Amino acid sequence: MQPSSRRICPRRVASLASVTVLTLAVGTSATRGHLTPDPATGGAIAQAHSAALRPCMIHGHVGVQMSEGIPTVSGYARSAGTVHALTLMIDFSDAPGQGRALTRFAEFFPQTRRWFATSSYGRLDYRPETPIRHWLRMPKPFRSYGIERGAPFDPGYRALIRDIVAVTGPKVDFRHYDLLNVLVTPNAGPSALDTVLSVTFAANTEAPDADGVPITNASFIYGRQDDGSGSYAMTGYRVLPHENGHIFGLPDLYTQEGGGAAGHWDIMSEDWGADNDLLGWHKWKLGWLDDSQVSCATRRGTAEYTLTPLGRAGGRKLVFVPIGSTAGYALELRTQEGNDAVVCRPGILIYKVDADVDTGNGPITVYDSQRNSGGCTRSPNVQAELSDAPFAPGQTFKDPKRGIAITVTEADLSGDYRVHVTRR
Ligand SMILES: [Zn+2]
Repeated sequence: MQPSSRRICPRRVASLASVTVLTLAVGTSATRGHLTPDPATGGAIAQAHSAALRPCMIHGHVGVQMSEGIPTVSGYARSAGTVHALTLMIDFSDAPGQGRALTRFAEFFPQTRRWFATSSYGRLDYRPETPIRHWLRMPKPFRSYGIERGAPFDPGYRALIRDIVAVTGPKVDFRHYDLLNVLVTPNAGPSALDTVLSVTFAANTEAPDADGVPITNASFIYGRQDDGSGSYAMTGYRVLPHENGHIFGLPDLYTQEGGGAAGHWDIMSEDWGADNDLLGWHKWKLGWLDDSQVSCATRRGTAEYTLTPLGRAGGRKLVFVPIGSTAGYALELRTQEGNDAVVCRPGILIYKVDADVDTGNGPITVYDSQRNSGGCTRSPNVQAELSDAPFAPGQTFKDPKRGIAITVTEADLSGDYRVHVTRR
């Protein structure tokens, strides 16, 4: 058993109050069962990767709790195939559910299921399941659990999970599920505009058991991520795929400074505002890309690659240029399609992936092809400066120290882009 720890990562909502999210990721788990990692894969992508991709399977050193490395360490829920998400709506005597519990459920579904289907090109069949369709009243008032921003797993969340298990009784067999979503009545705790309480305990080796299996991966959703712009019905669900992203092993990309490192290019960076997708790196990490859709640029000299839009199924999606065993540059084509609702300057997104940088500390850095431009979007809650980050035909990214140059050469009529990667 490893000691538990936690991180508190404040994030900003554009022109609104600072909000905070807490992500707990504790070590790894060798436990088996449901609500726990897939025994066969350890929650990570299972396929044996081709030898040509090995140099691109970067990994962090021991001590990085939630790493961008591939493969994902064991302990997380599996991220491909059919995933059964036990989804419970809970309320309290001092925060009674208002309206029907299924109305709360409808704030997140079917949107979340659809988001995963689109982002994964159909590889993640996410099934939210509600064996109990009414509010589950907790035995103690909300305030007695001591749940606030930064609350650790013990004692509040342990008590809450135990109470949830007790109250569900024989109606729920926890062995049938891969992960747990707890949709808390939105009147419990502060407004999400003041404090984001939503939190995930992933790969949690200290989780209590239910029906003989540990509740290793659980997301708790509080409040409503409603910025008052009138878009809540369209975008309010997005906190759930973000929190579930942690359950599949993805780290937070925002930092103390907010979304300035990765912008709106990944839901693990910004989950307020208009729809966005995941980075191609994350799709590979989650097992949503075949090896044939990923190229590992290791050779000296110049190589040409054709990339198809990330939001569209099929074709090459990701070129990775490794720089050592822990980091590298990723290239992908981002356009306004699929889950990417607001791409104002399509092109080749270039970013650094560093598997040695932990969640919340900036494991991904997007390079801005138009620095200090102010960006091209006016969409609310979208980090503006990086919105025009993609490289267009004729533009080059250079790392002179390592002798690497990446040039976007052309966009063809079908919408594919060609890039040249040169390594000295
Ligand atoms: Zn997070």
